Amino acid sequence: MSRPDPAAAMNGVGTGHLCDRCNRRIQHGDRAGLYCTWYERGGWTPRRTWCLDCCPEEVDPGTEGADEAILLGVFFAHRLVSVTVRDRSLPNQEANDETV
Ligand SMILES: [Zn+2]
Repeated sequence: MSRPDPAAAMNGVGTGHLCDRCNRRIQHGDRAGLYCTWYERGGWTPRRTWCLDCCPEEVDPGTEGADEAILLGVFFAHRLVSVTVRDRSLPNQEANDETV
């Protein structure tokens, strides 16, 4: 895998302060969720920001053929820091989704 780790790539990324699902204001120091997708041209690109209550546990449903990830981080000064990967859906992982 030559792709950079999404958590490392998105660490420190600038993000909005409103949850994309419930519109709640994300306060400084709150944990927040971020959904990002890999693009061959643009690299890891942030798509959605959620408050912790709205952040899904996993990428569901995964997008066929896409490498996507849900990240958790701490919202601080309009950036997401201390980012970790909560879930990641790889393009060729569909067959594994049924396995518990
Ligand atoms: Zn929310």
